[in-house]
Amino acid sequence: PAVARVEDLVKCYQLGTTLTVLKGLNLTFEEGDFIALMGPSGSGKSTLLNILGCLDRPTSGNYFLGDVNVSEMDDDRLSDVRSRYLGFIFQSYNLLPQYTVVENIELPLIYQGTKLSEATTDRCVKLAQMVGLGQRLDHRPMQLSGGQQQRVAIARALVNDPQVILADEPTGNLDTRTSVEIMQMLTELNRIGKTIIMVTHENDIAEWAKRVIRLRDGRIETDERNAHPKGLS
Ligand code: ADP
Ligand code: ADP
Repeated sequence: PAVARVEDLVKCYQLGTTLTVLKGLNLTFEEGDFIALMGPSGSGKSTLLNILGCLDRPTSGNYFLGDVNVSEMDDDRLSDVRSRYLGFIFQSYNLLPQYTVVENIELPLIYQGTKLSEATTDRCVKLAQMVGLGQRLDHRPMQLSGGQQQRVAIARALVNDPQVILADEPTGNLDTRTSVEIMQMLTELNRIGKTIIMVTHENDIAEWAKRVIRLRDGRIETDERNAHPKGLS
């Protein structure tokens, strides 16, 4: 079943003249998909990821999450949908430096107005343990390596048990060995049913995905299945 779908998706920016950045995209993302979104700089990857992440709206066309048409929602519903259905992972981790590992994992709960309790803390501690940071619960981001910080971000992305995880160059700041660890972790999340949509410009990283979509100049250039994703071989 489709977890997300875009239909005739167009995005324009007004800069005196109109710049059309996404030129009518049609894409269906299936449950359990693991997608690498590639393409040259300026081809529209970030714009598409921002729309998929409900951080930005299409100029025209539709975006469905499940069977809900997100393109018609007001800002309140949109941020509700964002915290309920989507998890975010960024190149620069985007952790809050003054907060501990557990507190950083709790952040999406706070954003969506969930009251913190023993139960929510337990859940965040379990997620920290799951990503291998059980001994680091009270550490702050500065005390952690880049790979450890990205694992905090992965735990944070999971706290609402989202169906879809959006990852923007998740290994862009990491060395090769640590990148492999992070990709193994994303592969495992995909195995347990998360749909992952990841922007990357690195072929080594795209090889972990089950499906590679290349954008060029706001259009889909290729959309191909990878018969042998790295993590599964
Ligand atoms: P990519 O992520 O593939 O590098 P982007 O989606 O960032 O591509 O950008 C696609 C095009 O849209 C580029 O020409 C970029 O300059 C333009 N663009 C992106 N964001 C904005 C914005 N907020 N305002 C105006 N133009 C933008
Ligand atoms: P990267 O370093 O991977 O490019 P950025 O820090 O540029 O990631 O963030 C990409 C976009 O996502 C920015 O527009 C930013 O405002 C937004 N963003 C950052 N953190 C969050 C968050 N926790 N939830 C929602 N949106 C976020």
